[in-house]
Amino acid sequence: MSEQLQAMPTDWQRALAIVAHPDDLEYGAAAAVAAWGDEGKEVSYLLVTRGEAGIDSLEPVEAAPLREQEQRAGAAVVGVTTVEFLDHRDGVIEYGPALRRDLAGAIRRHRPELVVTMNHHDTWGDTTWNTSDHRAVGRAALDAAADAGNRWIFPELADDGLLPWDGVRWVAVAASPLPTHAVDVTGALDRAVRSLLEHRTYIAALTDEDPESYCRAFAEQAAVEAGARFGGRPAVTFELFPR
Ligand SMILES: [Zn+2]
Repeated sequence: MSEQLQAMPTDWQRALAIVAHPDDLEYGAAAAVAAWGDEGKEVSYLLVTRGEAGIDSLEPVEAAPLREQEQRAGAAVVGVTTVEFLDHRDGVIEYGPALRRDLAGAIRRHRPELVVTMNHHDTWGDTTWNTSDHRAVGRAALDAAADAGNRWIFPELADDGLLPWDGVRWVAVAASPLPTHAVDVTGALDRAVRSLLEHRTYIAALTDEDPESYCRAFAEQAAVEAGARFGGRPAVTFELFPR
């Protein structure tokens, strides 16, 4: 696993990032989102749930609005102002046609050239089992990139004015155990740290560490590890699926 990663394509303008939970993007990909924003690219976020089952000490009904608010704040730090929620149920997202239809509809609405999602593999690369929600959303996002362009798979979408969009050229999977590409995030790391730090309630429930030290340590360590395969530059990695 020591071969060098390739630079991510840069000849695109719009990306849609599709993940299961608030904080999924802030644990890594947000640094790349900030770097893309610096280049004038537009990124929107689509959250499949509000992460309402993510905090043991908070009832879902209280957690949902808090986590939504923290997600919007975290997105704003890296320049993302369009943040949408699909309201599937946290923890039990079902992979299947209903999820694919929702994601295909969003892709038709946003018309991105790049779809970003998170690790769809069974594990994180060792024997740490990935969550059911991440697997379901990652796989459905990879499928929906194609579904969005086929007028016959979900014909009902066109009745809502969502016409086929076959313009997705790549799906980039963040936090994959099999990365192929990377983005230099040298100038974006501080914003990535602050973006993760916006998930205050979640992080306070997760660790006794000082939240800022926790966020900084996570972001910097990940960027340095990735950089070892990217010419020593701090980086965020992706497994890239061209279409
Ligand atoms: Zn998650």
